[in-house]
Amino acid sequence: MEKQELPHVALFVTTGMGHWIPVLEFAKSLNSFENHNFTCTLIAPTYAPLSKNEESFLESLPNGIDFIALPPATSDYLHGLVNVKGETRVVLNVRSSLSAFRDVVRELMGTKTLVALVVDLFGTDAFDVAMEFNIPPYIFFPPNAMNLSLFLHMQELDKKVSGQYKDLTTPIEIPGCFPIYGKDLADPFQDRKNDSYKWLLHTASKYKLAEGIIVNTFQDLEPVAIKTLQELGNPQIYPIGPLTQNGLNYSSENCECVRWLNEQPLGSVLYVSFGSGGALTHKQMNELAMGLELSNQRFLWVIKCPSNVPSGSYFGLSNQDPKAFLPNGFLDRVKGRGLLVSNWAPQVPILNHGSIGGFLTHCGWNSTLESMVNGIPLIVWPLYAEQRLNAVMLTQELKVALRPKVGENGLVKADVIANTVKNLIVGEEGKQVRNRMRDIKVAAERVLRPDGSSRKSLANLVSLWSSKMS
Ligand code: UDP
Repeated sequence: MEKQELPHVALFVTTGMGHWIPVLEFAKSLNSFENHNFTCTLIAPTYAPLSKNEESFLESLPNGIDFIALPPATSDYLHGLVNVKGETRVVLNVRSSLSAFRDVVRELMGTKTLVALVVDLFGTDAFDVAMEFNIPPYIFFPPNAMNLSLFLHMQELDKKVSGQYKDLTTPIEIPGCFPIYGKDLADPFQDRKNDSYKWLLHTASKYKLAEGIIVNTFQDLEPVAIKTLQELGNPQIYPIGPLTQNGLNYSSENCECVRWLNEQPLGSVLYVSFGSGGALTHKQMNELAMGLELSNQRFLWVIKCPSNVPSGSYFGLSNQDPKAFLPNGFLDRVKGRGLLVSNWAPQVPILNHGSIGGFLTHCGWNSTLESMVNGIPLIVWPLYAEQRLNAVMLTQELKVALRPKVGENGLVKADVIANTVKNLIVGEEGKQVRNRMRDIKVAAERVLRPDGSSRKSLANLVSLWSSKMS
């Protein structure tokens, strides 16, 4: 077979919609960049058969972008993974899929000219394959520059800091970032003896092998962090954000949420969602329900089964109806001003709807950027991964979010939630954070214009990769 004469990029993407979505957006931006005609293959290790959400996500792939799901290594291995969590599971999954990944890359090389092999934040073990086939290795980093700086300096920090990060009484210095307390670092940092910490350290130690790191952030958002990373010189840093999904194919005909939002006054609805996997304990979920009720504001809540009920299927995804866990009579009492959607909602068209006035979020970075590009102010409620760090940035640095106070036993009480919601949607503080978020929205639009910093950064990368064809 003759080799295709277009530049091709292989993208190795780790499990989770929060990883797939931005990597696909990156592939689309390469594919549609002026007349460079990049084609791409996304290659994803999986734990289990694809979920309905994942399948419907893949139905929207444009021409020129392929997706290959690598099956889990063996059933023994799969059962072993049930007992490991978070980053450990993701990295072990990467390692076990390397041989299948190598076969896919070898096959691609027979028909295409691979100009780069891009892995996402947990995929640096796949660099072995890039080295073996002599393909330039890159990282696509879906979160922000602050987290990237933490990853790039993790080994130095590990040597410098003794004891547990969470016990430190003074802030940690991450180059280019505002002071961070140990308790706000991602979960793996909370216990350095834990496997997740070791695997993260292992993964981060390979970041310096990358020829470049593409990061989903933009100049106006993190000028100091970006400058500091770029001054390191190696790897090259490409801030190309905000890369967010396009949700324009939803309308009132095919989407209940849009239909309901069309009936609500402008800027009046709080959207509540904890991302693709986040869930609250049963007790906390009930406090949130009572808080939303007490606030007297309109809301659209994507509700999931509590995190502490026995799950009905693999990896914590329960088959039960989450509404069964709400307080008695709640649904009747909020009828008309509250819409509850189980498990998943089309977030991008929701955030793009004029009736949305605020977003109560777990601070996943995709959700955060989706809110920014729509100028929607936030209530932050971080749960896991790098979300606490993002929450600090959003409240203290950028001042575009309110944060409800956590009370005794780690519970956020209903009256605190109600006050925060009222404050965001109709209060004075809400006005201030909304105005700042609108400025960010304007900056986000500017950086993506032809002369904008993110567009130029992507153009540099595209010309570098295109030049490898000649
Ligand atoms: N998402 C969605 N509907 C949902 C939950 C999530 O469309 O009900 C999308 C959301 O728009 C975002 C991604 O899934 O693009 C979640 O990524 P994020 O980084 O915010 O959080 P994660 O799920 O990785 O924790």
